[in-house]
This record gives sequence, structure tokens and C-alpha cells, in this order.
Amino acid sequence: MSQKTDTSLPTRLRPSPNHNERPEGCRIDTLILHYTGMTSAEAAIRRLCDPRAEVSAHYLVEEDGALHQLVPEARRAWHAGVSFWQGARDINDRSIGIEIVNPGHEFGYRAFPGAQIEVVVQLCLDICRRHGIRAERVLAHSDVAPARKEDPGELFPWDALARAGVGLWLEPEPISGGRFFQEGDSGQPVEALQSMLALFGYEVEIDGVYDTQTRLAVTAFQRHFRPERVDGVADMSTITTLHRLLQNRPAPG
Ligand SMILES: [Zn+2]
Repeated sequence: MSQKTDTSLPTRLRPSPNHNERPEGCRIDTLILHYTGMTSAEAAIRRLCDPRAEVSAHYLVEEDGALHQLVPEARRAWHAGVSFWQGARDINDRSIGIEIVNPGHEFGYRAFPGAQIEVVVQLCLDICRRHGIRAERVLAHSDVAPARKEDPGELFPWDALARAGVGLWLEPEPISGGRFFQEGDSGQPVEALQSMLALFGYEVEIDGVYDTQTRLAVTAFQRHFRPERVDGVADMSTITTLHRLLQNRPAPG
């Protein structure tokens, strides 16, 4: 096997057969972070390398920081599934996927160890630099598939990543009382909220009805950007944090 790793970080090769060609001329412009959601790292690696499972990721980071490359970056790995961001579908075409070992919500969700996050940070910095991936396109799996996925989840330290120069993040507006919107509501303020969510990138129909799709987008937003309370209710803290992120996001270029 003459395959080489794409990153200069200490990396073990664990080649997975689960990948295919990226579409012709498709540029890598997105980085998707996942948790494995399985009881052990080895079980996750086995599944990501099992041709019958038809799933994979480019990298996997164990809790002690051990880094594995499973799929070459030039190839299309199968990690995001049915997905959407800023008008584009099938995010696998244009993304690199990192699986971060954690049992996940199903098997005992727990904090991500510092040694693991340190390697995730270094890997993200390296990938974003080599591909010119913009901060606002470092995303959670739950951002691009809010109806199906909740990884890497509300314990993932997006704030620490941002301090190290990875991803877009602002200190969330504190939670307070005041007016809020939730599933079942409708009207102009709901339409305004949907417009902001859609402008940010989430798949939301702008129709003024706070439906399940809107609730799931709000939930995904909270999981990433206002993790203190993840309830799908658009309170003032959620709305203000979203508004400030939109204002602080660099203009598309
Ligand atoms: Zn995932």
C-alpha cells in the first residue's frame, strides 16, 4: 500500500473501501464534524471500513488524540448523507468529514477530552488552510441534516475551536425572559426568523409558519451556537445570537 496521508500530522492509515469520485470540477469548500456514536473507537473504525455499511469519513480522532485517515481527501467519502447547506444538496460532494470518537446521545454522551480536541483543532486548521475552507463552512453534521442528526452535539466545544481559529462562533446572548416563538406559531416574526435561518444556511421554507422543519433548524442552530438550552424554541437569546452571527459573517466571496 503506497497510499500516503494528506496531513503532515502523525496519522495512521486505516484505508476504507467506502468512497467514490467527487463530481468533476467540484471544489472542497466545507468541513463536517461528526461524533461516531458507537461504544468504542474500534467498533466505529470497523463499521467505517465495512463495505456492507456503505459509510465512511476521511478521518477519525480517538479520545486520546490518535488520528486515523480512512479515505484520501481527493475522494468522496460517505459521511453526510442526505444534506443541505446554503442552497447546495449532497454535501459529501464538496466536503471533508471528520469522525470524532464519542458514544453519542444513544450510548452515554460525554465531554470530549482535551487531548482529542487538541488534535481535532490541529487537523481542522491544516485542512482549512490547504483547501481554503472559510470559517463559516466548518459545520456540524446536525447543521446540514437537522431532521436526522444531532452530532457532534451540544457538548462539542465550538468555542474552544473558534479561539484556536477554527470555525465561526460568538459568545451567545444570555438567556433571559421576553417574547419567543415556537412550533405552531405563525406570522411575520416567524417569517423573519425563517429568513435569517435560511440566509445562514439551514434548509427552511420561508412561509411564516413555525413548523417541524423550522423547529428542527432552530434546534440544530442551538446545538452549535447556543448550547446552554437546546429546545427548538426561538427565544430572544437564540434570535439575537443568530442575528449577530449573520452580521459578523464575512460577505460571501
Ligand atoms: Zn454524523
